[in-house]
Amino acid sequence: MKRSKFIQSTLGIIAMETLGSFKTITDNLKEQDEEMPALFIGHGSPMNAIEDNEFTSTWNAVGKTFSKPKAILCVSAHWETRGTYVTAMEKPETIHDFGGFPQELFDVQYPAKGSKWLAEETKKTIKSTAIGLADQWGLDHGCWSVLKKLYPEADIPVIQLSLDRTKDTQYHYDLAKQLAGLRKKGVLIVGSGNMVHNFQYANFRAMKSGSAALDWAIDANHEFKELIKDNNHKPLIDYRNHSKAFQLAAPTPEHYLPMIYTIALKGKNEKVSFFNDEIVGASFSMTSLKIEKS
Ligand code: ZN
Repeated sequence: MKRSKFIQSTLGIIAMETLGSFKTITDNLKEQDEEMPALFIGHGSPMNAIEDNEFTSTWNAVGKTFSKPKAILCVSAHWETRGTYVTAMEKPETIHDFGGFPQELFDVQYPAKGSKWLAEETKKTIKSTAIGLADQWGLDHGCWSVLKKLYPEADIPVIQLSLDRTKDTQYHYDLAKQLAGLRKKGVLIVGSGNMVHNFQYANFRAMKSGSAALDWAIDANHEFKELIKDNNHKPLIDYRNHSKAFQLAAPTPEHYLPMIYTIALKGKNEKVSFFNDEIVGASFSMTSLKIEKS
């Protein structure tokens, strides 16, 4: 090789390598810049997907308070499994997992794409258990009824993470903590359930905020918020042994656990804010929260 050619190609390699490491640095910076908040949304009635009310207008407004995520990981009350799974299909179907609602609700589609990248990334991130890749689910109403208002364009890829019904609350809390790193990669984690959710005491004629709210529901809702504000998560994990009000608030765990996933993501210097802090139908709270850097 002639000397001039050798120098030329060597310089070329050096330039490429420099460019490569520069790109890695900028990618890393970009990841830090785009750290996403974490949300818990009290989803309430599936009708919220097609109604415009005080709750859904807040969901829409909250989606505008931070930059657009690269992808969304949703932990919905309505997907319980044995073992833990993530949806891994390219086009998750909109699942209408309810009955007795108007046709208009069954006609709703939320055509967001899936994300193989996020499914694999979640599988890699969680070390405490093997995560299965599911091709038999889609997006259930706990997920799409909320996202329809947060991101009506359905232009952000979405995956769901299931709730392992065989595990205790501590297990879910510990698993959720491992997801924190995804927030730095532009992933918005959304827990969707209801902190207070009891059908046995429901009064569906009292769906206006606060009307006919039961005392234990008001107490549980208040104390949940205080414990979350104080970073005192232990009584929230041990809720079954805490008080009668907590037991009544979560007679079954599935609507409560998505909140546990969200609070487990709270970093040391982060703040929490609450919205839609209301009781509806006597025994359901719409209380929602956002965790973000202070
Ligand atoms: Zn629900």
